[in-house]
Amino acid sequence: MLVDSHCHLNFPELATQLPEIQQKMLEAQVGYALCVSVTLDKFPEVLALAEQYSNLFASVGVHPDYEDITEPSVEVIVKLAKHSKVIAIGETGLDYFRLQGDLEWQRNRFRTHIRAAIQAKKPLIIHTRSAAKDTIRIMQEEGAAEVGGVMHCFTESMEVAQAAIEMGFYISFSGIVTFKNAIDLKVIAQEIPLSRILVETDSPYLAPVPYRGKINQPAYVQHVAQAIANLRGITFEQVMQTTTENFFNLFEHANPH
Ligand SMILES: [Zn+2]
Ligand SMILES: [Zn+2]
Repeated sequence: MLVDSHCHLNFPELATQLPEIQQKMLEAQVGYALCVSVTLDKFPEVLALAEQYSNLFASVGVHPDYEDITEPSVEVIVKLAKHSKVIAIGETGLDYFRLQGDLEWQRNRFRTHIRAAIQAKKPLIIHTRSAAKDTIRIMQEEGAAEVGGVMHCFTESMEVAQAAIEMGFYISFSGIVTFKNAIDLKVIAQEIPLSRILVETDSPYLAPVPYRGKINQPAYVQHVAQAIANLRGITFEQVMQTTTENFFNLFEHANPH
């Protein structure tokens, strides 16, 4: 089976359709999905999904795009991360594409999440956009290698992928890898070790071909896996088996039942 390593099923586009989404996952052999938090306000919604469905997991954290909200503290994140269904810290990271100006608060928030992850002993889900250099630097300065994690929806260079892999991180590919114009990304999906690859949808965004532009859902992660299989000249089953093993190796607290 496959695992969707990153989705937002509590978002309004998807939250009312959980039974259908689960049915589609079943049909597409997508056994599990990790529902990722973007604010502490909405964390209870994410956790409720993971409590209601045995095949859904949750993360706790605050996305770098949300400027005007209560800053999370290390203590609060660690406390919320104690729940057995919370298997990761994030999504966190840096985004210099969506927001500009003095983003010191964003870097501080990122450091807070890394410190919380180390205390909670749970891996990080890292979002980075137009900010790869600072992202890698802060990961190194804060010792993110101690807990590892995943560079989600990866769109950066091979050098960034390698720097993250050196710190024990996994690289997660989204539907972008199915897009015709994602030429550099396809090369990375072809060349980095399969043992470091995860697959995700980032639902409801970034639906893969042939659903590009539509509302995404975890079942569609099969198209991401198929694209990686095609690029590497291996079978879909190999990608399915290895990325699922990778997921459960990284998220060792993810107890399937
Ligand atoms: Zn993200
Ligand atoms: Zn996300």
